[in-house]
Amino acid sequence: MARQHGATRLYIDQNLDPGRKVDLGSDQSRYLTSVLRARAGEELLLFNGRDGEWLGRIETIKSRTATIVLEKNLRAQPEPADCPWLAYAGAKRGAAEMMVQKATELGVGQILPINTARSRPGKPNLERLETIAIGAAEQSGRVTVPDIAAEQTYDDFLATWSRQENAGRILLMADETGAGRPLAEIVDGVAAYCLFVGPEGGFTKLELDAAAQNSNLIKVDLGPRILRAETAAIAGLAILQSLGGNWRLSRDRT
Ligand code: SAM
Repeated sequence: MARQHGATRLYIDQNLDPGRKVDLGSDQSRYLTSVLRARAGEELLLFNGRDGEWLGRIETIKSRTATIVLEKNLRAQPEPADCPWLAYAGAKRGAAEMMVQKATELGVGQILPINTARSRPGKPNLERLETIAIGAAEQSGRVTVPDIAAEQTYDDFLATWSRQENAGRILLMADETGAGRPLAEIVDGVAAYCLFVGPEGGFTKLELDAAAQNSNLIKVDLGPRILRAETAAIAGLAILQSLGGNWRLSRDRT
């Protein structure tokens, strides 16, 4: 839940259409009453990641329940193709959560955890990461919540990329060894890209060699310094979105 331009923005996993009444769960109702002191009659902004953004009005509200009446659609749902993706090698919990939060703010459409040779041990907590993505979407004014994919092995991920399942989406593998090309030489419009950053220990030579065989992959360079994985993800996505034109879009399309 977040406030933007004075209005409270709420993600709600229910269908949104004119006149529909939606009931909030106890957590969101409690936040509205105890933190925001919201009253019946006040406006809210609601989105579900599928139907754009809606204006709602509080019809009834108590400490653990609230009913919102949907009044009108304010923003359409943007096309998924406008959003880059982020693939990241398994990172420690804090770094992974930061990457998910910042990547959501920066407008990604999908987030893909990848298990590489030097990934941190253990599986990502997808439920926790989804909650973080929802909070970042509420706070940043997005109506899209990025999908967080189940973790894949490096080999499976690379093989998928070869099989054209992501036809047209180019994999930009951040290579800190200096063998990559600057993004400015590559990015052409808000085309479909997926930025892939490695783990704290970096990609192995075997992984970098295997990547070089993939026709749908370009190794990219993020400057002369060695960045933390989360810094590489944030910097790389910012450059992609700026060069690709997403930052010149009106705020109606996020
Ligand atoms: N093990 C590496 C080392 O010590 O040289 C550092 C890996 S770095 C912490 C984590 C990931 O961030 C890298 O695998 C790469 O994907 C990305 N990265 C960091 N700095 C980069 C740079 N200057 N150019 C491209 N990618 C970079």
